[in-house]
Amino acid sequence: MKIIAIGRNYAEHAKELNNPVPTTPVIFMKPDTALLKDNKPFYHPDFSQDIHHEIELVLKVSKEGRHISEKFAANYYEEIALGVDFTARDIQSRHKEKGLPWELAKAFDSSAPVSNFVPKAKFADVYNISFGLNINGESRQQGNTKNLLFSFERIIAFVSQYITLKKGDLIFTGTPEGVGKVAIGDHLEGYLEGDKLLDFYIK
Ligand code: MG
Repeated sequence: MKIIAIGRNYAEHAKELNNPVPTTPVIFMKPDTALLKDNKPFYHPDFSQDIHHEIELVLKVSKEGRHISEKFAANYYEEIALGVDFTARDIQSRHKEKGLPWELAKAFDSSAPVSNFVPKAKFADVYNISFGLNINGESRQQGNTKNLLFSFERIIAFVSQYITLKKGDLIFTGTPEGVGKVAIGDHLEGYLEGDKLLDFYIK
């Protein structure tokens, strides 16, 4: 199982980090050791002083495919979850300055909490799904898939030109604006269309 993630897929988030709005999807990956399930606590690593939350929708790949056309790409995921793409922003900033890869900032252990999955059939329109993140009871991020720069189909088609997608792979689809630092003791609650799917602590 692999985790593929899309960066800068909501224009307002790209702007808040002073990044250009991309014209093709920005891709990075996390290993399976990044996955954190069942609302287990996230243990703040001591190699970073600036771990950021990025709430995102996560697609679960439902069958193997490569060179998938955009027209058929919707057939390659059946379930959606909420995830947090934890990012060591201090490390990422240093690596971006030097043109170095992002793995140390993005792929560390437990950097990908993921909720239970919901069948996509439950949503009337996958391009009008609201989601958000509260920390200690206050809203920090609010997003809606109507603001995606690259659709789920476009992401699946694009990635599968380069990397074979396998059943069970996860795709993090990008975060809306409002990213920020987490601290030990914080209580994170993630909502998908009003349903609380993520509920865990930073330890
Ligand atoms: Mg992200």
